[in-house]
Amino acid sequence: MGDNKTLLIGVDLGGTNMRVGMVTSDGRMVHRLILPTRVTLGLDKVVERIIKAIQEVINQTIVPGNQIKGIGIGSPGTIDIQSGIIISSPNFPKWKQVPLKHMIEEKLSIPTFMDNDANAFAFGEKWVGAGKEVQSLVCLTLGTGVGGGIILNGRIWHGADGMAAEIGHMTVLPDGLKCNCGNYGCLESYASASSIVRRVCNAIQSGKLTMVLDYAKGNLENITSDLVYQAALKGDELAIHIMNETATFLGIGIANLINLLNPEMIVVGGGLTNAWDIIYPVTLKEVQKRALSEMAKRVKIVRASLGDNSGIIGAAGIAYFNLI
Ligand SMILES: [Zn+2]
Repeated sequence: MGDNKTLLIGVDLGGTNMRVGMVTSDGRMVHRLILPTRVTLGLDKVVERIIKAIQEVINQTIVPGNQIKGIGIGSPGTIDIQSGIIISSPNFPKWKQVPLKHMIEEKLSIPTFMDNDANAFAFGEKWVGAGKEVQSLVCLTLGTGVGGGIILNGRIWHGADGMAAEIGHMTVLPDGLKCNCGNYGCLESYASASSIVRRVCNAIQSGKLTMVLDYAKGNLENITSDLVYQAALKGDELAIHIMNETATFLGIGIANLINLLNPEMIVVGGGLTNAWDIIYPVTLKEVQKRALSEMAKRVKIVRASLGDNSGIIGAAGIAYFNLI
């Protein structure tokens, strides 16, 4: 092991799309495939699609003498990493206790390893991404929700039950907006792309004027966090207010993480980081206000560097480091 001929498959299983990639033992992705997950087809069909996608990636890239040593899968939800079971997942509401590792190994006879998707993302960034030079980092993914992964001394911190790093459900405002988890004022209710859309829609419905509505051709359903970002760039007051609020709450969350863990680096990824140029300065100011100054000074707050490949590469890396 350890030579360049060692190849791994990384799977980033999402509620909307699955991404499957062939990754070398030095963390380079040589080929990838993205296809819709189609959750509505049911568990068996989705597993079939995962297996087919893996086979396709192998067929398209494998050369004689090379061999796939392992498969890593990052899945949203609570994962039993020892047994490779998806215990439950908000993205796959009907899936309970799904033995995905076993189902894949049975068909493909390749050792398979599983972890939470945000942990895989964080591990990818640690392995060959923004955090490759550091040993401790906290990763936040700002997308539909807010995901988190914590790397301590080079390893994923799983906690007692494998559920650690639910950073999205850290309280940042008692009695704040209701979160998908049922609680109020979670970071996810302020720093996710969907929370931006929700807050803009609420403001429009209560009579606020904004060019976001023009961008969306008058239809609330067309509003995306990216349109809000575009409007903020053009000086739209509501859009600026909501982006600032988002960045401020992100800063509160990050300051709490810094005070708790004293990490070398905070890595922020996910679709919302397209707006990093307006989010970062506000977030940084909030962090400097709230994190203890020695820790705030030394920590680097950066964007993820592997784009939407962090999850694939990280999942493959999890398999690789379990095998060596
Ligand atoms: Zn929550």
